[in-house]
Amino acid sequence: MKIEIIKCLSDNYSYLIFEKDTNTVTIVDPSEFAACDKVINKYKKLDYILNTHHHADHVNGNILLKKKYNSKIIGFDGDQKRIPGIDILLKENQNYKVGNLLFKVIFIPGHTRGHIAFYFEKEKIIFTGDTLFSLGCGRVFEGTHIDMFNSLNKLKDLPPETKAYCGHEYTKVNLEFCLKYDPNNSNLKKKSIEINSNLKRNLPTIPTTIGDELKSNIFLRCNLNVIKQALNLKDASDQEIFTKLRDLKDAF
Ligand code: ZN
Ligand code: FE
Repeated sequence: MKIEIIKCLSDNYSYLIFEKDTNTVTIVDPSEFAACDKVINKYKKLDYILNTHHHADHVNGNILLKKKYNSKIIGFDGDQKRIPGIDILLKENQNYKVGNLLFKVIFIPGHTRGHIAFYFEKEKIIFTGDTLFSLGCGRVFEGTHIDMFNSLNKLKDLPPETKAYCGHEYTKVNLEFCLKYDPNNSNLKKKSIEINSNLKRNLPTIPTTIGDELKSNIFLRCNLNVIKQALNLKDASDQEIFTKLRDLKDAF
């Protein structure tokens, strides 16, 4: 499984997945036609388009790419009416294969009510869209804070070595937010060195890993006393801490 990171729009990432044995080409969340097509052109084909959710900055390339390459578009069955050109409707926990690559649909609502992640268990790779970012999480638009909190908990349970590819390069500002409320976290400081070095060279900070996020992403650390104390909410529940952090981040 080879993954190419494609920079799109101002801060989006689309991902091209190439599976050699069956010569299968798949793209995750094509934000725009031109930038994606430039990379797809090397392969001269596009078999599948995977969409994590319906937002325009994740599906904008769907129709033009499908038209040019006769691709099949795959998304969540609850978002049939909102994902342009959708062909294959998948349900929560459903397994599906693109070429030889098997993935599972993980249902992670909150950012939108139909948001999913694509989990390639054997390859230890997950595409998290706008739910889990490096050092952050997506805004809660359609679901509730409880939905988002539960969705992030599902991702926390994945093997720590799992590589996570998300929908945006938001890492810099996420890092600043984490540092503000978790300033003594040595793992976070360690991660910041790698992040700043990548950003300085204009390289993506993606992928991250679930293990790194568990140690440094404040939104996955709502259960820790050190975070509760930093917010002056030492008796609050984990979920209340999450809601507080999300509200603080919205205004950050
Ligand atoms: Zn979105
Ligand atoms: Fe987005």
